[in-house]
Amino acid sequence: MTQTTVPDRMRASVLTGIRELTVRDVPIPTIADDEVLVEVAAVGVCGSDTHYFRHGRIGDFVVDGPLILGHELSGRIVAVGAEVSPTRVGERVAVEPQKNCRRCRECRAGRYNLCPNMEFFATPPIDGAFAQYCAIRTEFAHPLPDVISDEAAALLEPLSVAIATMRKARVAPGSSILIAGAGPIGIICAQSARAFGAAEIVVTDLVAERRERALQYGATRVLDPAVTDIARAGLDVNAFVDASGSARAVFDGIKALRPAGTAVLVGLGNVEMTLPIEHIQNLEITVTGVFRYVDTWPAAIHLVASGQVDLESLVTGRFDLEHAAQALEADQDPASLKAVVLPG
Ligand SMILES: [Zn+2]
Ligand SMILES: [Zn+2]
Repeated sequence: MTQTTVPDRMRASVLTGIRELTVRDVPIPTIADDEVLVEVAAVGVCGSDTHYFRHGRIGDFVVDGPLILGHELSGRIVAVGAEVSPTRVGERVAVEPQKNCRRCRECRAGRYNLCPNMEFFATPPIDGAFAQYCAIRTEFAHPLPDVISDEAAALLEPLSVAIATMRKARVAPGSSILIAGAGPIGIICAQSARAFGAAEIVVTDLVAERRERALQYGATRVLDPAVTDIARAGLDVNAFVDASGSARAVFDGIKALRPAGTAVLVGLGNVEMTLPIEHIQNLEITVTGVFRYVDTWPAAIHLVASGQVDLESLVTGRFDLEHAAQALEADQDPASLKAVVLPG
């Protein structure tokens, strides 16, 4: 192991029960030969972190022991395993927070996001990054250009979800897209749609403040679904992205698609929903989900470095490790968009 001076112990914010976070002194993760140790600079708070914090589970993923949350992160390499070039020490990186098995059918087919043996940060029982250090395989520590700040680099993770979504939705120059929900993912999807060349980007949200914000981030038009019947507004779009998790939004969004259109369900919320089956059959609509991402960081880094996507200004709150609980509750304020934890 090649390293700069790294201590043996670190501080981490540990989830020990529902709405219970404690800063603990824990051992620094050991790194395998193909891994690097990253000193964490910034960690974005995601809806899934908030969900584990409040409910202790997301569907079948149940927190049944102490867990470190946080999976959107950037930092600096401070040590490398035996198989990694020591020249990597000191590099600023964005972390793709996962470790696939490389051997299963899905990994071999290039769909590592669907690897059944996946170890993903902050998904029980795998620890995340609300800590001073974390370990990651070298190929998932993506080098950063100087123009991308630590905070923006942490948000390359949700941007990756948006890029995976645009690819699934087959957004291309001239496309029209409807996005339901103007939370962090909806806003980053709107920016990504613009970067992918979409000509028309319609964003819906029930909250006026959030609709207003969508207009600053790529939406060409915003609609209030409480006022406009989205299914019958004549939108006739190529692609629909649900970033709201609302059953009504999904039903109406699919109805707003033109023949051969694609619906991508990103938002969480309902395990079962009613879908407009006749519309899906008669218009040959594709309905799919998106589960994390495959090979999106290079594109994400390019979109931010070239100024096509702005992640920097999405950060509305900064918290240290001791205040991680406040970071997780920040979404209660409608003016908040993205909170980040700075473990330093
Ligand atoms: Zn996330
Ligand atoms: Zn696998």
